[in-house]
Amino acid sequence: MTLQTLECDALVIGAGPSGSATAAVLAEQGHRVILLEREKFPRYKVGESLIPHCWFPLQRLGLVDKLDSSPFVVRKHSVQFVGTDGQLSTPFYFSEHSDHDSSRTWQVVRSEFDQLLRDNAEEKGATILEETAARELIRSDNGVEGVIAVRQRTEELNIRAPVTIDASGRDMFAQVRNEWRVPDPKLKKIAVWTYYRGAQRDPGIDEGATTIAYVPGKGWFWYIPLSNDMVSVGIVADRDYLYRDSRDPDEIFDREVGGQPWVKAHLEPGEKTQKCRVTSDYSYRSRYCAENGLVLTGDAFAFLDPVFSSGVFLALQGGVMAGDAVHEALTAGDVSADRFAQYGDGFCDAIEAMRQLVYAFYDETFDFGAFIQERPDLKADLTDCLIGNVQRDFGELFRAVSERAQIPTPLSYGRPLLAS
Ligand SMILES: Cc1cc2nc3c(=O)[nH]c(=O)nc-3n(C[C@H](O)[C@H](O)[C@H](O)COP(=O)(O)OP(=O)(O)OC[C@H]3O[C@@H](n4cnc5c(N)ncnc54)[C@H](O)[C@@H]3O)c2cc1C
Repeated sequence: MTLQTLECDALVIGAGPSGSATAAVLAEQGHRVILLEREKFPRYKVGESLIPHCWFPLQRLGLVDKLDSSPFVVRKHSVQFVGTDGQLSTPFYFSEHSDHDSSRTWQVVRSEFDQLLRDNAEEKGATILEETAARELIRSDNGVEGVIAVRQRTEELNIRAPVTIDASGRDMFAQVRNEWRVPDPKLKKIAVWTYYRGAQRDPGIDEGATTIAYVPGKGWFWYIPLSNDMVSVGIVADRDYLYRDSRDPDEIFDREVGGQPWVKAHLEPGEKTQKCRVTSDYSYRSRYCAENGLVLTGDAFAFLDPVFSSGVFLALQGGVMAGDAVHEALTAGDVSADRFAQYGDGFCDAIEAMRQLVYAFYDETFDFGAFIQERPDLKADLTDCLIGNVQRDFGELFRAVSERAQIPTPLSYGRPLLAS
């Protein structure tokens, strides 16, 4: 294997939404950025439904107009919920809450969306090395000083940088190596999903709605209309529930579709285009968001159950925030862990707000519709949380929810690892 040494100001691992956002922010500020990506783009990814506040980081990255005119997007104006009996509740339209442009969000084909973000980072000046996998962190007494990477399995790269940003998604490059992963004890789910062509879409403004359809025991289906007449459809539920009489993903999926009248009726005119995929959907957060010379962002830092489609938002917003924090640190000539305390607080607060609602969702005694009927004064707060407007105080909302559902206390970890 040949060996090459490279140098840069900031090294980013992973060209998903979080890594490409960080790389773009830093390259735009004139820093020399290398972005490593294990795969060759475009590559497949699940997670196609965006929430309204994705608009803000996308606007910061200069991508809103491009996204609007891209052929791979479908306009998403609403979310709708379907009971286990197949009954549809009134759709929730984001524009009823705010008439800002962000209220018309998007369903995206992730291979194309992630390509757009990756290309944007490159246009802003980042050097992108695809088919290049980070293998090991390079350390000194001062902290992390880069990574050893392997390109196309033939070339070993020794890449040096004052700061490395881990945006490797659920591979959790640094968490695994540092043994920092802490699973969320309650949010242990499995997802089984596939794609249909020609399945039913609701008419008019509801054509691009995300539908969440309940299955017994607080499992749920997602039904996400995509471009080219495709639909992404999957079920998330407890492992024991899904594996109760089969371990075959397609059998499990077909059995569950048979028990959900709305999903069954909508899929009937369509054709399944591929075999089902499976992943464990365990939520987790890293014990630390940073150490000297290393920052974690996106799913590489924390992953939350996808029921409220918060993942891409947290990845984009976290990626931009990490980029800003790293820029300040590089400008100050100090990339020690404590520089990233505010970044860690901001990310943890955002994910914590969503986490409270995810717990409420899985509490069998809690019903969001009934809650809003009892407390209509809190509808705006609840909506803010669900659309990603999370940089505000939700104290009153969570107090009221905690009287009706078991919601967790905020996790105490996720801040930088400070030298003792
Ligand atoms: C079943 C399921 C459904 C979901 N549905 C939604 C949804 O509807 N809406 C939503 O917003 N979110 C959803 N999500 C979450 C969403 O997919 C993620 O939160 C989002 O992709 C995170 O972005 P990221 O940039 O942090 O990581 P990723 O998008 O995972 O990108 C990480 C990148 O790092 C690369 N990489 C990994 N290891 C290395 C390495 N060692 N060296 C170099 N490169 C590396 C990978 O190839 C990848 O390209 C869902 C997740 C799951 C599991």
